[in-house]
Amino acid sequence: MSRNPFDLEGRIALVTGANTGIGQGIALALAKAGSDVVIVARSDPSETRSLVEAEGVRSHVIKADLSSIEPCARIVEETVETFGKLDILVNNAGIIRREDALDFSEEDWDAVMDVNLKVLFFLSQAAARHMTGWTSQNGERGKIVNIASMLTFQGGIRVPSYTASKSGVGGLTKLMANEWAAKGINVNAIAPGYIATNNTAALQADETRNRQILERIPEGRWGDPADIGGAAVFLSSKAANYVQGHILAVDGGWLAR
Ligand code: NAP
Repeated sequence: MSRNPFDLEGRIALVTGANTGIGQGIALALAKAGSDVVIVARSDPSETRSLVEAEGVRSHVIKADLSSIEPCARIVEETVETFGKLDILVNNAGIIRREDALDFSEEDWDAVMDVNLKVLFFLSQAAARHMTGWTSQNGERGKIVNIASMLTFQGGIRVPSYTASKSGVGGLTKLMANEWAAKGINVNAIAPGYIATNNTAALQADETRNRQILERIPEGRWGDPADIGGAAVFLSSKAANYVQGHILAVDGGWLAR
């Protein structure tokens, strides 16, 4: 038995959108902490798979399009069939659509809300149905980590469905914690600040916005996906067994300004 409370050896973690960006950073951090990793992705996840397996843990890929709740039950079933259980779910997959609020379309509203909020809830539900049975038999705790945003706390601009979805992620994180804490599951969220990924490519390419963003970040730099990994390991570990419904900002100090 490890004396390190952050040790994830023997745990089975599932990370959505793990082919790139923050999801890849989290998958790698969980693997470094000893967890086997299920990579859920709709695009080629071979880079993440190589990085994870180089850490000496097992990986399994599940191809799924998370724009509807259709694959949610199957994803959990396939994980349990492959590894015998699911301990850790990281709801990372997410999209953003940018347009003035006056011109924002229903399509851009629905697309973002479906991936970022609806699927996050129903995949959590499918995982929690498994975890509640497993944890009560084995005395272990399940862990759900949602990826929120600065727009869980702030309004943002030109991203109405993204703001609505990520504010919703904050509320749902607390609701799920309230209902499932006593059933052996910890539900928390990470709110990344400005991280250099595909999601923020448009902002990084806009000279004015890029400068404005960097001026406001006390760290004075964009975050890297690896910066999110430590928080994910903490919230997935025994060290966080009494942390519930918390939204942990990993933002280089953005919210402190
Ligand atoms: P990213 O590089 O664009 O990654 C998003 C991931 O979600 C990709 O793996 C993407 O798959 C996946 N995804 C999107 N729609 C999907 C679908 N329908 N089915 C399956 N997978 C889907 O952006 P990121 O920055 O790493 O974003 C990861 C999470 O962090 C998101 O929830 C995002 O909102 C959140 N976040 C990011 C920042 C930031 O500054 N970057 C800040 C706060 C929160 P594909 O590669 O196939 O598109």
